[in-house]
Order: sequence, then C-alpha cells, then structure tokens
Amino acid sequence: MRLKIAILAGDGIGPEVTNEAVNILKAVAEFGGHDFTFVPLLVGGVAIDATGSPLPTATLDACLESDAVLMGAVGDNKFNALPPDKRPEAGLLQIRQALGGFANLRPSIAYPALSANSPLRPEVTEGADILFVRELLGGLYFGSPRWWNKETGESINTMRYTKSEVARVARVAFELAAKRKKKVTSVDKANVLEVSQLWRATVTEVAKDYPGVTLEHQLVDSMAMHLMNIPRNFDVVLTENLFGDILSDEAAVITGSLGMLPSATIGGQVNLYEPVHGSAPDIAGTGKANPLGAILTAAMVLRHSASLEQDAAAIESAVSKVLAAGARTADIARGSVPQNAPAQYLVSTQEMGKLVHQALAESIDRRQSMHAV
Ligand code: NAD
Repeated sequence: MRLKIAILAGDGIGPEVTNEAVNILKAVAEFGGHDFTFVPLLVGGVAIDATGSPLPTATLDACLESDAVLMGAVGDNKFNALPPDKRPEAGLLQIRQALGGFANLRPSIAYPALSANSPLRPEVTEGADILFVRELLGGLYFGSPRWWNKETGESINTMRYTKSEVARVARVAFELAAKRKKKVTSVDKANVLEVSQLWRATVTEVAKDYPGVTLEHQLVDSMAMHLMNIPRNFDVVLTENLFGDILSDEAAVITGSLGMLPSATIGGQVNLYEPVHGSAPDIAGTGKANPLGAILTAAMVLRHSASLEQDAAAIESAVSKVLAAGARTADIARGSVPQNAPAQYLVSTQEMGKLVHQALAESIDRRQSMHAV
C-alpha cells in the first residue's frame, strides 16, 4: 500500500505528539511492507514566523496532493494580539475549509485502565465505545441570514440543511455502523424544529438502504442525559453540526483526558486527521504531553484513508495494552489504580510513544507467526 501523508505538526506540543504518531505509522509501514511517504509542512504560528501566513499556499497545495493530512495542533500565545484571521488558528480553519470534509468522526472510548480518570463512575463508563459522526459544513454555524444589529439589539443565526447534505452524512454513519455494532442513533430536535424534521425524515429514508443496521432517533436534550447515564447503549451517534459540537465534548468525559482523543474529518478532497486537543503552551517542551490522542489519530488515518483496518486495530490495542500495564503521562496519572491492576508509572511523551511501538511490534510479530503456522 502506497500512502502520501502531509504532516502539519504546528505549534506547542503539536510537533512532540505528531512525532510519536509518525513513528508509529513508520513502524506499521515497516512491519507491513507498505510504502508511506511523510511530507512535513508548515502551519500555524511556525508558518507565520517563516512566511507571514498561518496557511502558506505551498502547504495547502501539498496537502491537496496528498492522500491524507495529519495535523498536530496550532496556537501560540505570542500571537494573541493579532486579529483572529491573522492568528495561527486561522490556518486550521482555512485548511478545514479548503479540504472540504463534511463528516467529523470523534470516538469516545472508555479504557478500563483509565476508569478512575473519568468523573463518571466506572460501572457507568464500562463498555462505552461511541463514534460520533457530526455534520461539519452546514447548520447553525454556516446558515444565512446571520447578523447582529447592535443598534436595535437584535441578532439572528439560521439553522439550514438540504436533504442531500443530511443524506450524505447519514450514509457515512450507516457505513461505519455496519462495520461496528450496527446501530445508529440520530440526534435531532424534531419535536420543535422543522430543520430537524427534515433531518429525521431523511435519515429514516437513508436507513432503508442499510437493513442490517438499527436506527433510533433521540431528541438532543434527552440524548445529553442518556450519554451520561448509559453510554454503553450507543454505537454510532449521528448529529448535525451544533448538537455534535456540544455532545461530542460532553462524551469526552467518558475517556477522561483531552490528550486521549483522536478525530478525523472525511468526505472532502483529502481527509484531515487531528487530535482534539490544542497546542497546550502550558506544557510544551516539558515532555509531559500525552501522545496517545495523536497516535490514535494515526490509527484513524489507516482505517479511513488506507482501509488498513487490521493495522488500525493493532495500534488501538497496543494503546490499551500500554495503559493496562500502568504507563501514564502526567494528564492521565491522576486517577486511583483499579483493584488488581498493575501499579502506575509516569512516562514522558517519547517514552509513551516507545511503549506503544513495542506493544505494536509484539502484536504484529504474533500475527505474522500465526500466519506462518
Ligand atoms: P489545549 O487543548 O491546548 O489545552 C487545554 C488543557 O489540556 C491544558 O491544560 C493542556 O496542558 C492540557 N492538554 C491538552 N492536550 C494535552 C495532551 N496531549 N497531553 C496532556 N495535556 C494536554 O487548549 P487551550 O489551552 O484552550 O488552547 C491552547 C492553544 O491551542 C490556543 O492557542 C488555542 O487556540 C489552540 N487550540 C488549537 C486547537 C487545534 O489546533 N486543533 C484546538 C484547541 C485549541
């Protein structure tokens, strides 16, 4: 398998965690005999320093010629005085827009070894493995009219969707659910909003093409409650833009640390992969950054841009194994140790990367020797 991956490490802890993610992808390439090329590119504050722009044309052009874009994070306090469109974060918004992905995928997984890190009780989070599919280009954030009349003290935003915008993201959710636990929960507010009635009718129609997948509808307000009460009841959760923004952040507490969360934005010209966290200037350069969100993001690259499902799953199980053995970066070292679990020990960003690499190598070795038998 040939894969050209644009690497936009960015600012702060971005390069530190991206480096570990790239090392894992290199290992997968080596073990599997794949030909992965990595193209390092400038974005964010480092791009402003070098070129004056948070997203130089050369970066964008190279991203558009790649099979996947892997981002670290952008943002640097030294640019805080600049207007929003000149800051590092503008580079992120521009690249998301230019690549045009309409479906944002965000997994929320309860790792048994981290159960004490979540503010939810272990018996509540146990078994939770949710994949949010959030529509990213429509809804309230983009609909017009939109304005704020400061003289009259009135403002308006518009939640607008077309049937085809809903259908294309619904198809993504059903396709993914068909490969998981075969359940889609579609979230709306159809008891009040016409736009949600269109959403519900369209999702119901799309569901007819996926008879093997169960569809349920939830109103967004009760969904917010069910997510915290019985998260294990959900598989793929399909939402419009605003509802998904809120609910996927709420569900992040299931995992217990921002440093553990991966994401992917698919459906555009080139898929964009990024850990959910920012550039964390407070810990940049200290070796405290958790690289697991970035490493799990690398697994998503393999799953969604290369159909290397087995390798993606091997990375994810290597992460679980390392956590189960007690390795912790500072952000996940807070919880108490579950009964009968090995003692925790503190590791740096690089050490965590190396442990995942080791666990991955062992699992691939085992896989290869099983094939050889
Ligand atoms: P942040 O995600 O950078 O940090 C929030 C808190 O979580 C901090 O205490 C940080 O130390 C911790 N944290 C984050 N990632 C971690 C990791 N991998 N390991 C351990 N701890 C981690 O959010 P913020 O502080 O609000 O923003 C900092 C900068 O990042 C700002 O400039 C912001 O605009 C930018 N930002 C960028 C992105 C992105 O690039 N996708 C996302 C959010 C924020």
